[in-house]
Amino acid sequence: MSRAAERLDEVKRAMKTVAGEAGRPATDITLVAVSKTHDAETIHPVLEAGQRVFGENRVQEAQGKWPALREDYPDIELHLIGPLQSNKAADAVALFDVIETVDREKIAKELAKEIEKQGKAPRLLVQVNTGKEEQKAGIAPEEAVAFVARCRDEHGLTIDGLMCIPPVDENPGPHFALLEKLANEAGVSMLSMGMSADYETAIRFGATHIRVGSAIFGERDYGTA
Ligand SMILES: *Cc1c(COP(=O)(O)O)cnc(C)c1O
Repeated sequence: MSRAAERLDEVKRAMKTVAGEAGRPATDITLVAVSKTHDAETIHPVLEAGQRVFGENRVQEAQGKWPALREDYPDIELHLIGPLQSNKAADAVALFDVIETVDREKIAKELAKEIEKQGKAPRLLVQVNTGKEEQKAGIAPEEAVAFVARCRDEHGLTIDGLMCIPPVDENPGPHFALLEKLANEAGVSMLSMGMSADYETAIRFGATHIRVGSAIFGERDYGTA
């Protein structure tokens, strides 16, 4: 078994344990394996081990590896978890099954246009900047509920949930609680929250999707060359 497949197993076991402790069915939580920076060779054993849901944060990088992998594994579900530029909306709609990072009017408009044009509708989540960090993408928490409503009413989009990335140096619990509260107010049910360092906490706070990279694939090497 590859190291990544072993780690996948460990994460799945931890998910089950925490879900049990939280009184939640483990089947309510989907593991999104974040494969950014890793090549097809590294991803392959994880597919072999049965994992089918993956997350990538760049459209172009994902285009380079997933179409070929999908030929062998047609039931792959691919999530875009990184910021989306409006000039990449067409490519994103064509490639991804779930886009987790809808965060502004312009993107909502572009996505609506492409969904209509391509006759293909990825599920959509709104990214909320729960920590109001300047460098981070996402809509401000106090604007999130109205934004979800505008996506529906003005752009005709179906929004299925919310996503957040808490500030690295803060206790994530209050951010997860805030996201859950906003999702209730907005009337959406998918909650994408929790990464390698805090997915167990996220499960306790009601995550339906956790996005786990390094705990499965190991540390990322972004390269310096
Ligand atoms: C990279 C990334 C992850 C995974 O992070 P790890 O700490 O490696 O688990 C999750 N969510 C987003 C949005 C990411 O960019």
